[in-house]
Amino acid sequence: MRPWIRRRTRRRLGAFALALAAGSVVYAARKPGSEVKPGFNLFSKQQDVQLGKEAAAEVRRQTHIVENRELQNYIAKIGRKLSSRPEADPQSFEYAFTLVTDKSINAFALPGGPAFVHTGLLDAAENEGQLAGVLGHEIAHVAMRHGTNQVSKANLLQIPAALASGVLGGGGGLVGQLAKLGIGLGANSILLKYSRDAESDADALGARIMSGAGYNPIEMARFFEKLEAEGGQRGPQFLSDHPNPGNRVKAVEEEIRFFPRRTYDPENSAEFTRMKALVAKLPAAPTSRAAGNAGRSGAGVIDPPSRTARTYRASTYQIAYPDNWQAFGGSAQDSVTIGPKQGIVSDQSGQAQVGYGAVLNYYTPSQRQDLAGSTNELIRNLRSTNPNMVIASQTQRRVRVGGSNALVTNLASASPFGGKETDVLVTVARPEGLFYMILVAPEREFAALNGVFDQMLQSIRFQ
Ligand SMILES: [Zn+2]
Repeated sequence: MRPWIRRRTRRRLGAFALALAAGSVVYAARKPGSEVKPGFNLFSKQQDVQLGKEAAAEVRRQTHIVENRELQNYIAKIGRKLSSRPEADPQSFEYAFTLVTDKSINAFALPGGPAFVHTGLLDAAENEGQLAGVLGHEIAHVAMRHGTNQVSKANLLQIPAALASGVLGGGGGLVGQLAKLGIGLGANSILLKYSRDAESDADALGARIMSGAGYNPIEMARFFEKLEAEGGQRGPQFLSDHPNPGNRVKAVEEEIRFFPRRTYDPENSAEFTRMKALVAKLPAAPTSRAAGNAGRSGAGVIDPPSRTARTYRASTYQIAYPDNWQAFGGSAQDSVTIGPKQGIVSDQSGQAQVGYGAVLNYYTPSQRQDLAGSTNELIRNLRSTNPNMVIASQTQRRVRVGGSNALVTNLASASPFGGKETDVLVTVARPEGLFYMILVAPEREFAALNGVFDQMLQSIRFQ
């Protein structure tokens, strides 16, 4: 649905991504040279492979794969050199490396091995060692199974059932089963957004893999720090997926001391220089596919809401919400949209569309009337900005919100993520006007968010 947000939402989203990338937290360091162990995991290695294959098929549909055999062979060759190292567990996983046309500096590896490299990464790397560094680091995430480890930890109770039905062909495969739990492949997917602990482990194991393949591991840390120093428009997705665990270069230097190999091949091969020239000459991706991060946008599925809450304080009320959601302020402090970053998108005219989340605001009725009357007037106004909005059920419920009487009306509209959308309107008569909150999610996913929405409603306090 389209909320009444007058400010441009796009800029706020951008600023948020940068803020995320800049954050840095002290972490508990593993002892350099000690073994890197994979964490707790409810998936089997075969399920990692299955999940990765399904997800890779989805990525291939959404990205533009570079049509240049020389470049693809080159990426595959470096990938093979690294992933055939015993530390990468090549017997268990099916590594594959694909170059996709996308100017942003990024690369990502799906569980089980399929990895995708953006042309922007090749463009930004100063030598083959840096490219190998990113690949080695991604391979380490695969080998340590960080994606499914994170999903396992976050959805401890639901995962075994989801895995069982996925294996038995319960519809949609593993990707479909995870989507039902709200775990998607979109930007900020829990599968691809790593913790700082996972990062330091991937640096350590990635360094070991690089060293074994003949690359100087320090290039990996240098490249990450270079991205951090540059910041800018093209880096943030990689940095927010792979947060700096703190002093990467020093940590990798300490790790290297434990490796048998001390001398490495020269970094700048003629082949690398030629590949960079080839990339520079590639045509741009077709616009329909170039939007956002290749393969990671528009999946229409959000990360599960966090169980820790934070509070939004407006001038006349306050509300708690999951701390991995954001509050996007409207034209006044009391007008706010709260939701997962991926749940709020811009339509063709640049207007914000809320697909997941809650819209809070005041409406000033044209005349004095009771709660039901002013609610009906508000609905007429909402329908004028959302022409496809309908009243889904004529029955309205009376509840208490923040100690006041409230009316709940079920509305429906078209979701910006496709299909039907449920919009639950909650209205409260307040001295400032008609306070309202609209809880928004695609119809098929509303039930999964009901608990969060309920907690948000119950947390409302009027001043
Ligand atoms: Zn990482």
